Amino acid sequence: MSGEDREIRNAGLKVTHPRVRILQLLEQSDHKHMMADEVYRTLADAGEDVGIATVYRVLTQFEAVGLVEKHAFDDGAAHYEINRGDHHDHMVCMVTGEVTEFRSDEIERIQRKIAADAGYELIGHSLVLYVRPVEKKIA
Ligand SMILES: [Zn+2]
Repeated sequence: MSGEDREIRNAGLKVTHPRVRILQLLEQSDHKHMMADEVYRTLADAGEDVGIATVYRVLTQFEAVGLVEKHAFDDGAAHYEINRGDHHDHMVCMVTGEVTEFRSDEIERIQRKIAADAGYELIGHSLVLYVRPVEKKIA
């Protein structure tokens, strides 16, 4: 049994070919944050006969059982990534669509302080920076 088979079974889902292929793809892609249509196209390019509706359904199931995280960035379509259980924030390039992960202990600390100052305990947050490449000046 492959690692993916085990992860799918441990999440309480039946092991099916589309589920295994989609999980493998999300785990192995150098592209960590994929949109459903990218998943679909990548599988199609690899000769897999998995329909777009199946891709959406499997991603929704994976999200429901905690195997993947879904991010609704303002650039349009939802992005999916393997849930590694680590916390990180994202920046999204509005020109290229590239998604970059970052983590700042300083930002984490300031957010906890802002919540505490308002009488709350911080239990989570999501932070997305929308960016564009800096234009290079011609000397
Ligand atoms: Zn991420």
